[in-house]
Parts: sequence; structure tokens; C-alpha cells
Amino acid sequence: MKITLSKSQWEMIGNKTGWMKSAQEESEQNYLEYERFMDIIKEENKSPEAAVAQLFNLPVRTHWEICEHCHGEGVHDNPNLHSVGGPGIEGLAEEDPDFREEYMSGMYDVPCKTCRGTGKVKITKPLYDKVSPEVKARCEELLRDYYSGQDEMAAEAKMRARGIQF
Ligand SMILES: [Zn+2]
Repeated sequence: MKITLSKSQWEMIGNKTGWMKSAQEESEQNYLEYERFMDIIKEENKSPEAAVAQLFNLPVRTHWEICEHCHGEGVHDNPNLHSVGGPGIEGLAEEDPDFREEYMSGMYDVPCKTCRGTGKVKITKPLYDKVSPEVKARCEELLRDYYSGQDEMAAEAKMRARGIQF
């Protein structure tokens, strides 16, 4: 059987495949963008906001803030100490006064990873006033994706630390 389609039916099919093709291209483009965005964060050690600005060539405003992780001290507790089993760090400190003294004096502190021991972090804010609403929306989408991924990873890490397998 031969199916004859009218001109408008052909046009509809044409539009549909055209639309599907552009949707696919758009999602591929978005995927590549996200990959590049993550590369900038990991390889160039930039904040997500700075990465977005770099990706879309946005002007930025920067300022310094005291590091939240170490409260500006540049050092913090060695996280490995908190993963010791048995009595835990408080138990050890109770049992061993010498250890307690050393611990309290900061002998086991390690340089803060977040600020690399400087006690301050540079905050970059992308400025969106000169870009189209589409670019701004895309930037915000990337940042949302990044932070929601981070929350999940942090939640997983916390669960792992409590010995919860999933
Ligand atoms: Zn710090």
C-alpha cells in the first residue's frame, strides 16, 4: 500500500524531526558545556561561579571572605583523627592527657584545603547585566546542577562516614 501524504502532513513531519534534531543537539551542547564547566572547576581550581563566568566570558566582581571551613585560621583538625574507631577522639583525649594537650594545642592540625592555609577565599560573582536572559538562565542552570550534585555527594559522604551502605 502506498501512503500519500498531503503537503501539510509532510511539513508537520519535517517540523517534528527538525524539532527533535534541534532538541538533541541542544542537549548534546548542554552536556558538553557542563563537562567543560566541571573541567574548569577541577583542573583550574575555580569556584563554580568563576567557571561559569569563564565559560561565557562574563565580567565578574570579586571580594575576599574569611574561610568558612577553618574560620580564617588556615588550619583545622585532621579529618583522619575523626575516623579512628574505638573510643573516638573524645575518648582518646579523656584516656590520655598528653594526647589531649597536644590535640588542643593544634599539634595535629592540618592546613585547610578550602583556603590552602591562607584563611581567606576569593568570592567571584558573575555579572549578568550585559548578557541575554538565555545565557543568564543557562549559567544559573549550571550552578544549580553543580550545587545539587554537591549536596548529594556530601549527603553520601556523610552516610558513608556513618557506615551506611547504599
Ligand atoms: Zn580555610
